[in-house]
Amino acid sequence: MAEIANVPPAAKLAGVEHLYSGKVRELYRFPDGRLLFVASDRISAFDWVLPTTIPDKGRILTAMTTWWFEQFADITNHWLSSDVPAEVAGRAMVTQPLEMFPVECVARGYLTGSGLADYQASGSVCGVALPAGLTNGSRLPAPIFTPATKADVGEHDENVDFEAVSGTIGEEDANELRRLTLQIYERAEGIARDRGIIVADTKFEFGRNPSSKVITLADEVLTPDSSRFWPADKWEPGRQQSSFDKQFVRDWLTSAESGWSPKSDDPPPGLPDAVVEQTRAKYVEAYERLTGRTF
Ligand code: ATP
Ligand code: MG
Repeated sequence: MAEIANVPPAAKLAGVEHLYSGKVRELYRFPDGRLLFVASDRISAFDWVLPTTIPDKGRILTAMTTWWFEQFADITNHWLSSDVPAEVAGRAMVTQPLEMFPVECVARGYLTGSGLADYQASGSVCGVALPAGLTNGSRLPAPIFTPATKADVGEHDENVDFEAVSGTIGEEDANELRRLTLQIYERAEGIARDRGIIVADTKFEFGRNPSSKVITLADEVLTPDSSRFWPADKWEPGRQQSSFDKQFVRDWLTSAESGWSPKSDDPPPGLPDAVVEQTRAKYVEAYERLTGRTF
């Protein structure tokens, strides 16, 4: 796989082979085939990896993922252990190596982003017809499955309809991915809403265990990196909702003070300490609100 331009080189870790660096995560492999799934403190905005890291972000998002796995004990997931090399303690997990389905399994309970754009153009999202009169941030009558193809590095994922997924992976597996995606999202949305966070949409990835053949929930789950988290008390359909975690980053990057524009071809500047601290506090708050635990 190609590496992303402004991602720093991955740390060398003893006893594992580096396979891949994404914008935020790194993947390594143990000699026995198990994977080491590492979350860095990197943050992305406007499709750039920012030059500034957010202290503890990797640990917070990893703890959130494993907490969700615990909530869904009846859903098979790829987590094997949190016993990881000291350099990545707390921000990595050992996982099963899966044969990944080439599908971004997106569930939406609220309308925004590319879903809103598709709806405004066609009245439907990924082939799912929606009622008239919905606006940016509207809660949908029921969550919908809006899959996307996994794009190559630097490209945007492309929304596709259910038939396209069926055509790629077969109808039986497509049905199962849709069922799992909607079921997990629906449960998570309820849990989070009770705790003051709207999970507007989320993306899951699934793979098949090569020996047991069981369809298995993979990747990180239900974090602000894989989902849109909105503060429930500020939710107001009809406008762009503020992002739970990255609002300070986006506001600062688009302000005159940053001297940068999202339209620019130049990489964004480093974040001021105050923005880093506010952003870190939002990740901690999301974790603590959701789990009821202290970070
Ligand atoms: P982006 O930076 O846009 O998120 P990405 O999704 O390609 O890019 P990461 O999310 O950082 O990159 O990398 C995680 C990769 O690991 C993904 O390609 C994902 O499909 C894959 N993956 C996740 N869990 C497993 C697993 N259990 N077995 C095999 N591959 C997995
Ligand atoms: Mg990813």
